Amino acid sequence: ASNLLAGKRGLVMGVANNRSIAWGIARAAHQHGAQLAFTYQGEALEKRVRPLANELGAAVVGHCDVTDAASMDAVFAEVEKLWGGLDFVVHCIAFSDKDELTGRYVDTTEANFTKSLLISCYSFTAIAQRAEKLMRDGGSMLTLTYYGAEKWMPHYNVMGVAKAALEASVRYMAADLGPKNIRVNAISAGPIKTLAASGIGDFRYILRWNEYNAPLRRTVTTEEVGDTAAYLVSDLSRGMTGEILHVDAGYHVVGMKNPEAPDI
Ligand code: NAD
Repeated sequence: ASNLLAGKRGLVMGVANNRSIAWGIARAAHQHGAQLAFTYQGEALEKRVRPLANELGAAVVGHCDVTDAASMDAVFAEVEKLWGGLDFVVHCIAFSDKDELTGRYVDTTEANFTKSLLISCYSFTAIAQRAEKLMRDGGSMLTLTYYGAEKWMPHYNVMGVAKAALEASVRYMAADLGPKNIRVNAISAGPIKTLAASGIGDFRYILRWNEYNAPLRRTVTTEEVGDTAAYLVSDLSRGMTGEILHVDAGYHVVGMKNPEAPDI
């Protein structure tokens, strides 16, 4: 615990349950003294999100489905009512039809391409538009990405294309919002077993592969992603924007299978 984030007000979007990366980030931000507000997607998740918010003394500012602009407007209006301003926003939202997170990318349908890019990439821009208005004294915006944006990964398919677009949007928004001292960064997290990840084909194999081949010889936890997120939304990282920071046990530097790794 520290006062690193004391006085900072942060909106965390994308908590689904206690395995969510957003929850790891919320806990870390809370430990460092931030005041938090959560959104949830739909009534089923509300039941999970409210008790988690209570654990951290966080506000719940309402239902937000990023395909519904009115619901985004409503939660930002709630944040303005609650705090009158905002210091950071954390975007942990992605979606693709499960049927297309297996097989070949080239078979992606137009409908799922459009939906995946809308929810997994454009939503961060849509949220930035609303957050910018509340970040009157500067701020920090953070999103979550994956190495499948940079290199081909089995089964990641259209999500890899969406993450590549998301990473590019981090750079464009960093340039747009920098003059207002609003910073925009992303964490590229290694694979973690969450609800969203369970939709990806052969996910257990991907976890195993990382355990054997990442420099740290293990996968990462939501706590570790949370600690890096606390840094990125704090003033310690005030000289950084447009950055994609890997929290992946070093996997992104590896160019070939570890010869000592067993066959899996
Ligand atoms: P998760 O299932 O806990 O969180 C995904 C969230 O996205 C859920 O809270 C869900 O409600 C939200 N969401 C989906 N569609 C939405 C919509 N239309 N409107 C509003 N919210 C919507 O899974 P997670 O793994 O914690 O995912 C969080 C982020 O981390 C995602 O961007 C994911 O791509 C990214 N990420 C995950 C991993 C991993 O291995 N788990 C690795 C790197 C990056």
